[in-house]
Amino acid sequence: MTISYVLGNSLYLNLTNKCPNNCDFCVRNNTDHLGDAESLWLEREPSHGEIINDLEKRDLDSFDSIVFCGYGEPLERLDEVVEVSKYIRSRTDKPIRINTNGLSDLINGKNSAERLRGLVDIVSISLNASDSEKYDEVCHSVYGRKAFGAMLEFASASKKFIPRVILSVVDTIGAEEIEKCRAIAREIGVEYRVREYIE
Ligand code: SF4
Repeated sequence: MTISYVLGNSLYLNLTNKCPNNCDFCVRNNTDHLGDAESLWLEREPSHGEIINDLEKRDLDSFDSIVFCGYGEPLERLDEVVEVSKYIRSRTDKPIRINTNGLSDLINGKNSAERLRGLVDIVSISLNASDSEKYDEVCHSVYGRKAFGAMLEFASASKKFIPRVILSVVDTIGAEEIEKCRAIAREIGVEYRVREYIE
């Protein structure tokens, strides 16, 4: 079972396969593995002890960053992300990043960005679309039309607690959508990134 894997110069953590979305462009639909992982499908969610044991075998200082991002939404395991981040912080000053769909407040039933304060350096949130209707068309969230607004609120709240907040889209959404999404990021006052679609 792959808990951590190397992709580029970063170490990635795969804590869960749960996700409330089912995005058309999700990499999980196209391949079972990324980086040096054989498969990112988990037979079960790794326990705290298993995650720490796995990290103890890694030279964390040798990576450019440590990233919570696997075949699921990392903030489905918010408590574990917080505890594991504390452990990583005790071992290295390398940046900690979370790649998330930004739906943590809905998933966890409460405001959650503040829990990442002082632990996470960068949060990269998938914006995906310029309004709730288009978001639902591509992300098929169990939260329906509520998802888009909740994601933007999480992005806005994250600005108060996390040094770098990035809203991202995939490059397949078309030039007009890319520009509309850029305007949303500007309005919220966060960074914007157009990321390459992974086949
Ligand atoms: S939010 Fe991320 S993990 Fe979940 S379905 Fe969409 S792309 Fe996949």
